[in-house]
Amino acid sequence: MSTIARVEAFVVSQPLRRPFHFSQWGFDRRAVCLVRVTTDDGRHGWGEGYGPADVVRAGVEFFAPHVLGGDPLRTGALWQRMHARGLDFGRRGVLLAALSAIDIALWDLKGKILGAPVHVLLGGKRRDAVAVYATGMYFDDEPDLAARLAAEAAGYAAQGFRAVKMKVGLGVETDAAHVRAVRAALGPRVKLMIDSNHAFGLREALDLVRRVEQHDIAWFEEPLSPDDYEGYRELRRRSAIPIAAGECEYGVAGFHQLFGADAVDIAQPDICACGGLTEVQRIAALARAHHVALTPHCWGTGIGFAVGLHFLATIDVLPGRRHPPEPFLEMDRTENALRDELTPPRFEARDGAVTVPDAPGLGIDVDLRRLADFSTGARSR
Ligand code: CA
Repeated sequence: MSTIARVEAFVVSQPLRRPFHFSQWGFDRRAVCLVRVTTDDGRHGWGEGYGPADVVRAGVEFFAPHVLGGDPLRTGALWQRMHARGLDFGRRGVLLAALSAIDIALWDLKGKILGAPVHVLLGGKRRDAVAVYATGMYFDDEPDLAARLAAEAAGYAAQGFRAVKMKVGLGVETDAAHVRAVRAALGPRVKLMIDSNHAFGLREALDLVRRVEQHDIAWFEEPLSPDDYEGYRELRRRSAIPIAAGECEYGVAGFHQLFGADAVDIAQPDICACGGLTEVQRIAALARAHHVALTPHCWGTGIGFAVGLHFLATIDVLPGRRHPPEPFLEMDRTENALRDELTPPRFEARDGAVTVPDAPGLGIDVDLRRLADFSTGARSR
């Protein structure tokens, strides 16, 4: 039997050539904490946490002693051991992202030990390729931002994406003008989603819904503060546009609160933050019981994207029919060398879908030379 001999956290970071912003703050670099778990017989698995990279690394260092020496095949038991140690201090938030990163690395490792892709461990594929939507249309200082956003959207459609998501949250009038321009550029056949990153109160969110609902919006993501469960319930009741949220929600208990409030039509757990592959299965079961659709949030490297592919490959679309709609995985298209270069070959969408890897584990590996290039210093326990 293999035992876990090493847990390493790597913070990788890369400045952006073209900084961008969204409704809350700006980005001039991308940074993420990756985790490598290695066994005493030299096998390893990779994971990733979503959240402030240095804080995630501290969380990984906190959890590492509780998995060292353990059996990497016992992913559920190791998850529970870590969760029990964090519960008093971090029921929600970035400590769960650290737990997620280790949990994902353990699933990758388990798959490699057993010679099985993660989607087999999760119950088997329902589909060989996962439909993706392009996330982009962030803000910059371009004087004619509406035209720039419209051109970007048209570029994704030309690449074959069948759905795209744009940012809103600058203010309802500006947002409505941007949505109008992007819809005009896309034409009627490409799905369009809007995401405010919790920029609005209930009345402003309702105002924006009424201004853009004629543009056939597939969902309005994070219209309100993630703490405003009552506001979500009211907005969802009054909105003609489906409501999506969940990237700021953690653990099955958090999603229990979200679903209990009838807050969303579409749940968006980030598998690299919500508790990893172990916990997202529980969240998916809960979503199923509440008849809520699941479309994971995904905004990291190829590791996190591979996790999303394996997981969504195994999701049933309910209630089901002969030709059901496909579940969507988020495919961030903003500048990110970490995503494009750390896990070659990079994932590519063909006709709006990405093939699910069939190699053992997550079916990817990290280019150690590029890891060293991007690394701001590894620490191991
Ligand atoms: Ca979002």
